[in-house]
Order: sequence, then structure tokens, then C-alpha cells
Amino acid sequence: MKHACKEISRLASNSLDRKLKLWEKVKFHVHLAMCSNCRNCDNSMKLIREASELIQKTKYGNIRLSNVQREKMHRTLKESTGG
Ligand SMILES: [Zn+2]
Repeated sequence: MKHACKEISRLASNSLDRKLKLWEKVKFHVHLAMCSNCRNCDNSMKLIREASELIQKTKYGNIRLSNVQREKMHRTLKESTGG
């Protein structure tokens, strides 16, 4: 992994915990525009975040996932992370 990519993946995981500063966002988006590798990583990261939000809702909001939804989520996650 290139050094720049490492930093970007760190920013991506930071963005799950806190709001990125403006210069971090700029760096992030500029890099993503150039690097397909990081675009893929970012997509899987978003999926994981969505999945964990869904799980939270399921736990606290009594929204249950159907088997079909669950299956679809697993498949999408698997595909996007390359197995
Ligand atoms: Zn990259």
C-alpha cells in the first residue's frame, strides 16, 4: 500500500468517529478521485457503516431484518471487499 493510501484509509476510519477538518476532506476527495484502490476501500467502509447502523436500529428500534435483506447485505459486503 502506498504511503498516501495509508493516510487516506486512516482519514476514512477517522471520519467514522468524527467530522473531518476541511483540509482533510479536500485531501481525501482529491486522492479518491485519482486512486481507484481507495475508492473501493471507501465504498466498503460506507457499506460497513450502513450495516452497523442497521444493526443498531435492529437492536434499539425493533426493526428486524428479513432473511432476504440479511443475505443481500452479506453478499454486497463480500463482493465489495473481494471475498
Ligand atoms: Zn489510494
